[in-house]
Amino acid sequence: MATHTAILSSPIEYLKGVGPQRGELLRKELNIFTFGDLLNYFPFRYVDRTKVEKIGQLHNQMGQADYVQIRGRITSLEVIGEKRGKRLMATLRDETGEIDLVWFQGWQWMQKSLQQQTAYLVFGRVSVFNGVMQIAHPEMDLLTENIATGKQFLEPVYYTTEKLKARGLTAKAIGKLTFNLLEQLSPLEIPENIPEPVLQQFRLLPRPMSFFKIHLPATEEEAQQARRRLKFEELFMAQIRICRIKIRRHQQSHGYIFSAVGDHFNDFYNNHLPFALTGAQKRVLKEIRLDTMNGRQMNRLLQGDVGSGKTMVALLTMLLALDNGFQACLMAPTEILSQQHYKGISELLEHMPVNVALLTGSKKGKARKEVLAATAAGDMHILIGTHALLEDEVQFKNLGMAIVDEQHRFGVAQRARLWQKNTIPPHILVMTATPIPRTLAMTVYGDLDVSVIDEMPPGRKPITTVHRTEFQRPQVMDFIREEIRKGRQAYIVYPLIEESEKMDYENLMKGYEEVKAFFPEPQYYISMVHGRQPADQRETNMQRFVRGETQIMVATTVIEVGVNVPNASVMVIESTERFGLSQLHQLRGRVGRGAEQSFCILMTGIKLGVDSKERINVMVQTNNGFIISEKDMELRGPGDMEGTRQSGVLDFKLADILQDRAILDAARACAEKILTEDPDLSLPENHPLQEYLAAHRGKSQWSKIS
Ligand code: ADP
Ligand code: MG
Repeated sequence: MATHTAILSSPIEYLKGVGPQRGELLRKELNIFTFGDLLNYFPFRYVDRTKVEKIGQLHNQMGQADYVQIRGRITSLEVIGEKRGKRLMATLRDETGEIDLVWFQGWQWMQKSLQQQTAYLVFGRVSVFNGVMQIAHPEMDLLTENIATGKQFLEPVYYTTEKLKARGLTAKAIGKLTFNLLEQLSPLEIPENIPEPVLQQFRLLPRPMSFFKIHLPATEEEAQQARRRLKFEELFMAQIRICRIKIRRHQQSHGYIFSAVGDHFNDFYNNHLPFALTGAQKRVLKEIRLDTMNGRQMNRLLQGDVGSGKTMVALLTMLLALDNGFQACLMAPTEILSQQHYKGISELLEHMPVNVALLTGSKKGKARKEVLAATAAGDMHILIGTHALLEDEVQFKNLGMAIVDEQHRFGVAQRARLWQKNTIPPHILVMTATPIPRTLAMTVYGDLDVSVIDEMPPGRKPITTVHRTEFQRPQVMDFIREEIRKGRQAYIVYPLIEESEKMDYENLMKGYEEVKAFFPEPQYYISMVHGRQPADQRETNMQRFVRGETQIMVATTVIEVGVNVPNASVMVIESTERFGLSQLHQLRGRVGRGAEQSFCILMTGIKLGVDSKERINVMVQTNNGFIISEKDMELRGPGDMEGTRQSGVLDFKLADILQDRAILDAARACAEKILTEDPDLSLPENHPLQEYLAAHRGKSQWSKIS
């Protein structure tokens, strides 16, 4: 079997037409080391060689910035210009008109190879120079019978570089090399790797054929089918790898078994739950319940929009741990957020025999020692805190459940430290309010189990979002005044991308003075909160707002995560154009937490770029975090999304997880089905897949993720 791939692993320089020097260049410039690499070097588009334009009609095509193909006779050929401006000019004429062809580089060679009064097929991009149409560096083909009669075929166009072109490796030349390679390849050299039933189900081309057709399609349709098959392969193999990692993790991991739902859970659920759970909350709890009964460590990501009620899920999950004799902890990224969790959870558990403590960096001395001792002794049941929880001095007697809130603030490494608190790792639930588009979650967190809360608690009034410019500032201020008169509070947020940035800081101070002028003491009080303040001062200001002693909070994005002031009904965001979509959505989530109608006002300058306009439109149109995250990905590209940057998991050659989502879905479902039915891939129909994976082991980066 192995001999089948022998040709494809030959060094590229042995291919006809390559040799050592070009081989070196292909390696350096395009990462093409072997015949197989060249086979996998796909054209990015095709030229329809059957379509020929009339020169006289070309001006109609101008402005479309596309390539054209014309046919004509060279009527003049001369070198003009001086020194560095020296260039080769040719005039090409057909029965409808004429056009200039020009070469600035490599013209010596062109001059030798082109012949006057000879017919050529010319391909290139038309531009206008000094009012005259011309094509710079066109591709030239002698007009042989073959081309003239227009055999139906699409010519592949390959990406190339200046260095390669200087060595004669133009797009066309690369096409020729590929052609040479395909000519000497037998289909057996390209063994199938997708099981037959899958090929049939999705009507995919056989593998060898798809490689031939992607390079040399006869029609657009064929090219399309070949690409579809190869995209599927790419995504399918990736999903198979992810699913295998997940399965392996499941097989190898040991986790505590929470066999009972006991008194804590039931007592709370029946007697102290302040509201009915939403369907989504119930579903997630069921998923967690199943995870904690199967003897494996749970490793679950919980996604839910701001305000969707993740905290209650966290609390019930911790009670489940307590019912089974374990301790639980809840880790939040900021001191304020930990305090709010602590306060909220303590109140909810007030009438229950559960000990809850807060542990943050600011808890010192005796109080700290007491908490640590109680935790180690097992007397403390629920510990809430910041990353202080990760420190070595924090020892649990039997930690069974660790919950991490607002995942994107913690690194993977930090999370892993939670595992090491026990010999058997606790179950882990990671909660995030930054929705990750489903397609991304599938790829980036593919080996985690993902739960989604996609339903808001009932009775929420959707936040009304509007866009206002500088001109309308007085009206905006009037509006805030009116809300305050009704007893509400308002946030005014300034961008401070880098807390150290001087300009941003000055803007904030200027803004603060302005707001103060509109809202003078003693009728109004304002809290100002930013990252340059000493922590205790920031804390005091924040608390005054939380207690309702100030009506307005002027702040930077430090408030992005977690503060909960249900009475606040207005969120003004200054310089909105400087924020990304996801961040805007997070900020907006600070309001709309109470029963009142809430408002988000997006302030911008008068002039706006296309992207900013688009972002603002999305914000005005929807409150749905998932739609926003999809849009965010569309605008920024998947590579820029939170959490994907270094993961390298999105480097697909052909597939694009945005556009090829239908293929991704199919590939995912397929991979899961196959591995569920045949985990070792030992069924005969899965042999091709198994062999392929064995031969291509270690080529993926999947295992690096979480
Ligand atoms: P997040 O998912 O952003 O952490 P929270 O857990 O802070 O959301 O919940 C937001 C608010 O909604 C809280 O005041 C909480 O008490 C309330 N809440 C949560 N679940 C429900 C529910 N099922 N019905 C009504 N209110 C709920
Ligand atoms: Mg929360």
